[in-house]
Amino acid sequence: MSRVVVIGGGVIGCAVAERLSLDRHQVTLLERDQLAGRASGAAAGELSPARPSDAQSLAMFPELVARVEKDSGMNVEFRVQQGLKPAFTDDEAAALKKEGGRWVDPAECRKIEHAVNPDALGAVLIEHAHLTPPRFVRALARASASRGAEICEGTPATGFDVAGHRARGVRTPDGITAADWIVIAAGPWTREVALSAGIDVEVRPQRGQLAALDPGSLILRRSVFWSNGYLVPKGDGSIIAGGTEEDSGFDDRPTVEGIARLLELSRKLVPALAAATLQRVWAGLRPVTPDGRPIVAASTLRNLIVATGHHRKGILLAPLAAAQVADIINRAK
Ligand SMILES: Cc1cc2nc3c(=O)[nH]c(=O)nc-3n(C[C@H](O)[C@H](O)[C@H](O)COP(=O)(O)OP(=O)(O)OC[C@H]3O[C@@H](n4cnc5c(N)ncnc54)[C@H](O)[C@@H]3O)c2cc1C
Repeated sequence: MSRVVVIGGGVIGCAVAERLSLDRHQVTLLERDQLAGRASGAAAGELSPARPSDAQSLAMFPELVARVEKDSGMNVEFRVQQGLKPAFTDDEAAALKKEGGRWVDPAECRKIEHAVNPDALGAVLIEHAHLTPPRFVRALARASASRGAEICEGTPATGFDVAGHRARGVRTPDGITAADWIVIAAGPWTREVALSAGIDVEVRPQRGQLAALDPGSLILRRSVFWSNGYLVPKGDGSIIAGGTEEDSGFDDRPTVEGIARLLELSRKLVPALAAATLQRVWAGLRPVTPDGRPIVAASTLRNLIVATGHHRKGILLAPLAAAQVADIINRAK
């Protein structure tokens, strides 16, 4: 059993805490503000696999969700469902047909999802899943706590106690918390946190904006994906339109231009949404690396692991990231 300090109470930090507490490590999680207060609470909750690692992580959800719901007493609203990727040009149709999934012609497309734009030349039907991210993150933290993990909200990591090639502990305003292992999962703030240990992690913030629409009596049963955007029908009857990609530094406020783009996308995919009302708009900062791939690895300080850079897929990839961190720690026993 090792003493592990996890820095960051987003989905990656909480999934790591959950997994390590299952493996009987003694976990302390430090969150500067509140759990799921950043991108992990802002996310739409789509679990749509594209790369093989996405599919590997998606396959871990049923067991993880069952365990976490049992240990936390919470419902994370996980559902497996179908989604539609419509094409509006011949080039889009050709590219989508190559991606796989069942191709449906315009008539069938309209039959299964009445509200989708009749100008679509057809669509690919895909299998994916979906959950409610703030619930998922809190459930992961509660499940960890039920196994003895200490979850400290309002507690920033402010530095490290380093001796040679190892970090002996994490500094907070309350003092130093001793650790055998440290995991930095601070999203786009990982760079600033790691720099205080002399480690440069190339990760930056990318703003994504979302809008929640009240569609009135309009019915949309499946998520609709097009280009980088999507419409996601939620269990409470709202439809979430997302998600922009912008370089805004650490500014996570929604803008007129970003929300206008989402409303335009909503009308393109489902024209009748022109009559929907706007419930809420918000934004979050995704952690992005230069090559767009996550970093889950030990650093030059041998017992300090970095877990970040999950970009648009952090909710989907959280179980895999947690397993990768556990593997590094358990292999070193
Ligand atoms: C609009 C939008 C929609 C998205 N939709 C989806 C989706 O549908 N599906 C999907 O899979 N992914 C989605 N994503 C991506 C996903 O949200 C992110 O990849 C994921 O949340 C990143 O999680 P994280 O734990 O690395 O970072 P974060 O959620 O940013 O968590 C990092 C935490 O570290 C804390 N922290 C920072 N510094 C310190 C410190 N010094 N001490 C202690 N704590 C600190 C922060 O307060 C924060 O809570 C979306 C993202 C956005 C913005």
